[in-house]
Formats: sequence, structure tokens, C-alpha cells
Amino acid sequence: MKPGWEAVIGLEVHVQLRTRSKMFCACANAYGAPPNTHTCPVCLGLPGALPALNAEAVRMALSLGLAVGAKIRPESTFYRKQYVYPDLPKGYQITQGPVAVVEEGLLEVPGDPEVRGASGPVAIRLERAHLEEDAGKSAHDLRPGASLVDLNRAGVPLLEIVGAPDLRSPQEASDYLKALHRLVVFLGICDGSLDEGSFRCDANVSLRPAGAQAFGTRVEVKNLNSFRFVKQALAFEIERQAALMEGGGTVVQETRGWDAQAGETRAQRTKEAAMDYRYFPEPDLPALRIRPEEVEAARAALPELPEARARRWREAHGVGADEAQTLLQTPAFAAYFDALAEACGQGKAAANWLLGEVSRLLNEGTGGIETFPLAPASLAELIRLVESRVISHGAAREQVLPALLAGEGSAEAIVAARGLAQVSDRGAIEALVAQVLAAHPGPVAQIKGGKASLTGFLVGQTLKAGGGKVDPKLVNEVLAEALAKA
Ligand code: ADP
Ligand code: MG
Ligand code: ZN
Repeated sequence: MKPGWEAVIGLEVHVQLRTRSKMFCACANAYGAPPNTHTCPVCLGLPGALPALNAEAVRMALSLGLAVGAKIRPESTFYRKQYVYPDLPKGYQITQGPVAVVEEGLLEVPGDPEVRGASGPVAIRLERAHLEEDAGKSAHDLRPGASLVDLNRAGVPLLEIVGAPDLRSPQEASDYLKALHRLVVFLGICDGSLDEGSFRCDANVSLRPAGAQAFGTRVEVKNLNSFRFVKQALAFEIERQAALMEGGGTVVQETRGWDAQAGETRAQRTKEAAMDYRYFPEPDLPALRIRPEEVEAARAALPELPEARARRWREAHGVGADEAQTLLQTPAFAAYFDALAEACGQGKAAANWLLGEVSRLLNEGTGGIETFPLAPASLAELIRLVESRVISHGAAREQVLPALLAGEGSAEAIVAARGLAQVSDRGAIEALVAQVLAAHPGPVAQIKGGKASLTGFLVGQTLKAGGGKVDPKLVNEVLAEALAKA
């Protein structure tokens, strides 16, 4: 950030809702089907076809609203936003009018200490979330000399979440976007696919002199579909606007696009050239009325929210804050962790296994935790054997886990069949230690002389003498005692 300036950022996020059917018709809401196979008179805008509102989309909007502590409007309305474009067959988009079904929520993000002076979470206001429909998709590069239109996406339900201009740096904007993305994915209302356009963002940014109250003129960067692009586009815009104003120029209100190749934003259209959408109330849809029972039903159906889950894991299992964030990578991963922690009764060890060995194996393959062949209960048995020191961590990782994955039976059966149970008989270990000390008089003398770092060598020798089956913790204890007496 250039000294002397403060950035003001507000994001508008378009979330494609994971409903079965489209917003106003019974066509499937399905990505990737052959072009123009999910269309009907309603989403094609044929004369006389009438829209009917999708109740599932409404429930999803309530779910988001309640999760961010927003107000649910008992009555909201739909409008027609009119413009002409080949992928908009009706010639207008149905969207909520001045009153949206969800208004005034809050989303917590880690504040950026670089711009706020202190660290700590900040609550970003959500101004509103309104229901609308997506447009179709134009492809200008599939057939030379022609533009193609696919209307499968026309009429797909969208929830547009308009954030207040409360963000103060590209980092905060990206953190906000990630928090919102995780929330909609954990609520089950969006598949979260950035590549398929299920979660897209327009970023508004202006600068004001540090300490000033009034906002400067904003620029809107359209259609950012990655967290990184949002950060890069905002950083570029902040530099551009600061340089412009420092050079005596003024920022014009306009929409710009992000050119990822060039790493810069480009002007698209100015406010003067902005379209007049000639909004008017949608005559074919009644007002959207939400009864208190519907709000309560949506509240009762809310899952445990990601942040609450992270807090529970920290408090119940002593899982670290960063580990908790990693465990929240997908709803399936978080669910696997909950089941594993419950089954083995050792949350911290469960987290270590899941983030260590299991993640390493998943990274070697191609699938997520959904493809991991071991049920939480069977991995839990392995973890319990390690925690109760029946087997060493090394034997668990190098022998039992691969055998479990190869389908050789339960962890206990594998340990028994391969004779992996470790020696935790103190007498036996004392005998081993005595042998090792006798065999290495030199190192023993050096340790006595103050070179404590050589102790590890003797531990290693004892473990080796025990054929890798002696309990390392006990070896350490016994060795320390023996050295003290030596
Ligand atoms: P519009 O209806 O033209 O899109 P809104 O007032 O609804 O305009 O604002 C759209 C987005 O722009 C919101 O996310 C808001 O936070 C953001 N925004 C508004 N004013 C500013 C500003 N001066 N600087 C940065 N962002 C802004
Ligand atoms: Mg807007
Ligand atoms: Zn349709």
C-alpha cells in the first residue's frame, strides 16, 4: 500500500445455488451437459411461458442469511433488469428489487494488521443477499467466425451477496472471499467450484487519503474467479489509482476487467456509458413472502458452522488453530475427522494422522478423502494401538497402515499376524540397554564427560537391538537411569 492512502473495498459475490432445478422452471440445474439440452419455454423466454419460484433456492437463501445473523425480510419482490445480449433470451434478468430477502449480516475475517495497526478479527457487514437468475453462456472461440450460445445456464439460481465497503486491503478481501466460500460450501448451498463459475466475484475499490472519512470514486473489477486474481487485481488497481491521483489525475467511475496474462486491469465501460436497465416490478411473480415458521425451520436445519467447529476442536481436542483450518478444507474432510476423533477417543492424535500420513497418501493419489478406502473406525483402531503403545509409530506407519490399505484385515489382526506388538516389559528393555552400554564404552564415557547429544546414538542402538519392537519412550527412560548409574 502506498503511504498516505487507504483502500476501501467492497465485494459482490455471485453464488450459484446447488438446487436440483432452475430458478423459475423445472429444467435440471446441471453443469457440463451437452449445450442447450436443459431448456424449456420458461428459460428460453418464449411468449406466454410463466415463471414459478424455486422453493429450494429460497430455503438456501434463508440458510445463508441465518448463518451470517442477517435479517430475513418477511416480504421481498422481484424485478426485471432489462438489457440485450445473445445469452439472455428473455431480454431481461429476473432479480430481486430494492428489497432483498436477506439484509444486514456479518462475516468475521482476520483483520489485516498491516493496515489496521493491530491484529484481531473484524466483522465485515453484508448489506444484502438477493435471489436472481444466471444468464446463458456465449462462446466466441469455439467456431471461427461465429459466436455460439449455450442456454443450459440461463435461469440457474444465483444468490448475489453484496458486501459493505468494509474491507481495507487485498489480503482482507481475499480472506473475506475464502470465509464466504467456505460458508456456502459447508451450508451445502453451493458446490464452490471456481473453475466452473459456481462462485464469482466483482470487486469494487476506491482510495481515500489516510484518515479521511469520505469515500473516493470506485472502480468495479468484474468477474474474478480465483482468490489469487482478486488479490492481484485489487493490488494492481490500488497502485494504479494512487499513481493516477498523485500525478494530479482523477479516478473515473468505471468497470474494468482483469487480464490475468498481462497482470493488469483494463477499462471496459465508464459510468456515462452505463446501461439504463429500466427496472420494473416483475408482473408474473407474486411478492416473496416468508412465514416465521419457515425461518425457524431453516434455522433448525443449519449445520454446525465451520468456525464453531474449529472452536469445538480446539477446546475439546487441543487441535491448533492452523490445524483446525486445514481440517476444514472440505465438508467431507471435516466429517471424516469428526468420525475419526470420536472413534479413537484421541482428537489430537486423530488430527495428526489425518493431516500427516493420510494427507500424504491422498496427495500422492488424485482423489479427496471421499476416495480414502479406510473407514474412520478402522483407522481409529490403528491410532489406538499407537497411543496405548502396543505398536511404535514407525511400525504403524510403515507396516500396519500399508497392510490395512492392502486389505489384510483389521489393525489388531495385522499386528498379531506380523508379531509387531512392541516390547514394553521393563526388565527386557533393561537387559537390552545393559548390552548396548557394554558394547559402546567410548560413547558412554563421552556422555558422562558432558556430550549429552550422544544419548540419541545409544537410543538408536537399543531400538535396533530390540528389532524395532521396543517402546522408544521406555528405552529413553531406562537408558537415562542406566547412564546416571554408569
Ligand atoms: P451498485 O448497485 O451500483 O452495484 P452499490 O452501492 O450496491 O452499487 O455497491 C456495490 C458494491 O460496491 C458493494 O459491494 C459496496 O461495498 C461497494 N462500494 C460502494 N461504494 C464503494 C467505494 N466508494 N469504494 C469501494 N467499494 C464501494
Ligand atoms: Mg452491483
Ligand atoms: Zn427451463
